Amino acid sequence: MRRFLYIVTSAIVIGACCPTAASAAAVPGLAEIQPAGPGQTDSQPAGPGQTDSQPAGPGQTDSQPVGPGLTGAQPATGPIYGFTTDDKEYGPGFVNGGTGADVSQGVIPDNNFLDSPSRFTVGVTDRYSYDQMVQDMQRFQANYPDKVQLNVIGTSHDGRSIYEMIVGNVNAPKHILIQGGIHAREYMTPLLMMRQAETALINYDTGIYDGMRLSDMFSQAAIHFIPMSNPDGIMLSEFGLNGIRSDFLKQAILTSYAQDTSLGRTSQPLDIYLQRWKANGAGVDLNQNFPANWEGVQTSATMTSYAGYKGTAPLSEPESQALASMADRYPWAAAISYHSMGNIIYWDANTSRAKDTSKALADTISTVTGYKLDGSDGRGGFKDWMQSKENPVPSVTIEVGSVACPMPVSEYQAVWKQNKAVWAQTLAHVIRN
Ligand SMILES: [Zn+2]
Repeated sequence: MRRFLYIVTSAIVIGACCPTAASAAAVPGLAEIQPAGPGQTDSQPAGPGQTDSQPAGPGQTDSQPVGPGLTGAQPATGPIYGFTTDDKEYGPGFVNGGTGADVSQGVIPDNNFLDSPSRFTVGVTDRYSYDQMVQDMQRFQANYPDKVQLNVIGTSHDGRSIYEMIVGNVNAPKHILIQGGIHAREYMTPLLMMRQAETALINYDTGIYDGMRLSDMFSQAAIHFIPMSNPDGIMLSEFGLNGIRSDFLKQAILTSYAQDTSLGRTSQPLDIYLQRWKANGAGVDLNQNFPANWEGVQTSATMTSYAGYKGTAPLSEPESQALASMADRYPWAAAISYHSMGNIIYWDANTSRAKDTSKALADTISTVTGYKLDGSDGRGGFKDWMQSKENPVPSVTIEVGSVACPMPVSEYQAVWKQNKAVWAQTLAHVIRN
């Protein structure tokens, strides 16, 4: 399903972070600090003075308070987003323009670690950067040398290494791929995944989940985390042009801005436009760049843009090539793509050749997240391709969060609560199936 949002005046908010996700209808002011729309009950109201005041739950004792000025919250009177069209503003899960934020209570199997005091070292921060992530990964490798392996699977346009972090037995018969951060402004997903990985590492030797020892499970299956598939785009969304090193890329980004402005695709000042960036550093939407009915991708942009341009050919981008290089490298039992927002799990697609197994994966993840399930159009995305390629892989897309991207750090605790068990649940699922 595909629908464009046209608003009569220049005032419009596009909250959708993903091809398949959508925000509610136009939200006044800056969308990311507002409840996303009708029916949404779990978003945190966030004003300019908001300081991430959510109470820390068990196991969350180390979350870092975020002081005023660090929240990413914009003045409520700030400029109104002027993005007039985007791809698929209402995905299949949003037929009524709802937010998908109707989350039921997840039920997490018995375990001895997810709600225990933890020793997290990955800090919850408003703009979790590429450099911070690399530092954290390197520390994991130093602290848990026999449990984690770091690999570089490719290099971005701006020369950043794209990392894969394997937790568990690299030679195990079963493998799980979890990737995130493919859309720039969805940069809470790398933070979430790094916390998931650290949870796994901290509890690797002693953890018991649903009656199984983590150490036994990790001997039978490895989890491959690719937390930041689009490092340049994320740095651009987080830090503006200062996040980009190449002068050529900076110029190309400014060209995209000029084009989007003249085409009426944005009426925003440059800094807001860049915060809302979704593509890679070269203006291509990586999740429309995979060879899953790529010709059928009805791209909303015909040239490089902050969002909605599928590129000149499938796998035209180094970042999508990096992910594609993983597709047949291991015998994948499951693949998860993290996006935001919507609090929903997409598991189906017309092109899928792994329908029953993807549904089973979605069902088991739904039990711990409380997220609803839905289909998607199956074009151009990494999940779509993993499901439709030869040797199809059971795959889902999980859309986290309930407000528009980039999400304020105040959303993190809810996202964590709903997703902290996803990796362990998936591990148990693939071992039992
Ligand atoms: Zn996305």
